[in-house]
Amino acid sequence: MSSYDAIVIGGGFAGLSAASALSEAGARVLVLEARPGLGGRATAFTDPATGEVVDNGQHVLLGCYRETFRFLRRVGADGDVTLQRRLAVEMIDARGRRSRLKCPALPAPWHLLTGLLGWEALGIRDRLAALRIAPALRAAQARLARGEAGLDVAPDETVEQWLAAHGQNARLREMLWEPLALAALNQSPREAAAGSFIRVLAEMFGRDPDAAAIGLPAVPLDRLYAEPARRFVEARGGAVRTGAPARVHTMNGRVSHVTVREERLEAPHVITSVPWFALEDLLPDPDPSLAGLIRDATRLGSSPIVTVNMWFDRPVLDVPFLGLPGRAMQWVFEKRFVFGEQASHLSLVSSGAEDIVARSNDEIAALAVEEIRAALPEARQAALTRAKVVREKRATFSLKPGEPPRPGTRTPVAGLHLAGDWIDTGLPGTIESAVVSGHAAAAAVESA
Ligand SMILES: Cc1cc2nc3c(=O)[nH]c(=O)nc-3n(C[C@H](O)[C@H](O)[C@H](O)COP(=O)(O)OP(=O)(O)OC[C@H]3O[C@@H](n4cnc5c(N)ncnc54)[C@H](O)[C@@H]3O)c2cc1C
Repeated sequence: MSSYDAIVIGGGFAGLSAASALSEAGARVLVLEARPGLGGRATAFTDPATGEVVDNGQHVLLGCYRETFRFLRRVGADGDVTLQRRLAVEMIDARGRRSRLKCPALPAPWHLLTGLLGWEALGIRDRLAALRIAPALRAAQARLARGEAGLDVAPDETVEQWLAAHGQNARLREMLWEPLALAALNQSPREAAAGSFIRVLAEMFGRDPDAAAIGLPAVPLDRLYAEPARRFVEARGGAVRTGAPARVHTMNGRVSHVTVREERLEAPHVITSVPWFALEDLLPDPDPSLAGLIRDATRLGSSPIVTVNMWFDRPVLDVPFLGLPGRAMQWVFEKRFVFGEQASHLSLVSSGAEDIVARSNDEIAALAVEEIRAALPEARQAALTRAKVVREKRATFSLKPGEPPRPGTRTPVAGLHLAGDWIDTGLPGTIESAVVSGHAAAAAVESA
């Protein structure tokens, strides 16, 4: 007989939220993570050159990440996220003009609209055009409130087409929607289907005025959630193993066992939280009923993120983060404020980075330096002491129209449940999608 009630494969947000939810409910859980460390696509590493801990990419949480904050509270880690009270963002546009969007504490969608009306980056025409999005947002929110999964949008309509159809002009798209879509979807508005974006907007600008507030981890990502989750699971009789690449074996329509190299492990339930591109290897001799799932996962495309970490010899940025619309690097974060570091450590993020991901480190770093010096006068005088490029080629799954459908939590194989940001949560590939999927998988195990 197995000594575990469930085996969870994958130690990222999805797997650890599932494992901690099951542990909280009294189950004994074994987590198996293939890599030497936990965290998956939201992790940190020690830079061999300096010994410094560097995130694999800046991660932003939003006030509307309800399930994520529930997970972080469960494992005692919510205090390590610095969350704004209301959405407030500074931007420097492509012509170098700096402005600030700040949403007041009003009910939806008035907080957004009032914020937009007061935003000096917009002219009077742009402000009036912004109002035209309100009915579509309200309709989406009403559908969500009624628990309706579908949104009123064609599956092949892109974000850009949807925004244009709702009167959002070029300036609004440049300053607001494009940076927001790139951050939320990790894909250009010209490529991504509109459905997930509308869902994000409906969540961000819903009834709760805090939902669009931006949260930044105050510690490196592995310390933020992965190690607290490990301690939580272990304290409740579970175990978390790293360096443990798993394979799931099925027999007669149900999970038979899991192997880690030659070792055989059994449990009545297995939750896999591996990404879409790792599912095929996880199931070496799959039940025939899983063929469609594996085919779709293998065909699902990916979208890259490139991060450039830069250290300057003096402070160059006076706020924790700044939007840089119209550039390859769309957002910059000052880790000095976020982590309380002494040095000026900027993290520049390029989402939907297909155009630059194949360039050399030197080329990418040079582009980032050029853009930051053009945007920030202080950076022109400062000496760059070091730059480190981090590429995540498969940061998130693609939201392009025509991609295969995303699967649900349940599979045709008894005892096998799916989690991961790519499971059909309606959300794009985000932490919140991962945790929603993890909690749904834990609930499926509990109700089995
Ligand atoms: C650079 C970057 C920036 C991002 N920024 C944001 C952001 O600002 N906000 C946001 O919400 N989201 C952001 N994301 C997306 C977010 O990181 C992901 O959506 C989330 O981390 C996915 O979690 P997951 O648990 O579903 O998958 P993963 O984190 O990929 O975890 C899956 C785990 O399974 C393991 N695994 C695979 N195969 C096996 C096997 N056979 N056996 C055992 N283990 C296996 C993998 O090693 C991995 O650790 C960003 C992603 C990247 C890469």
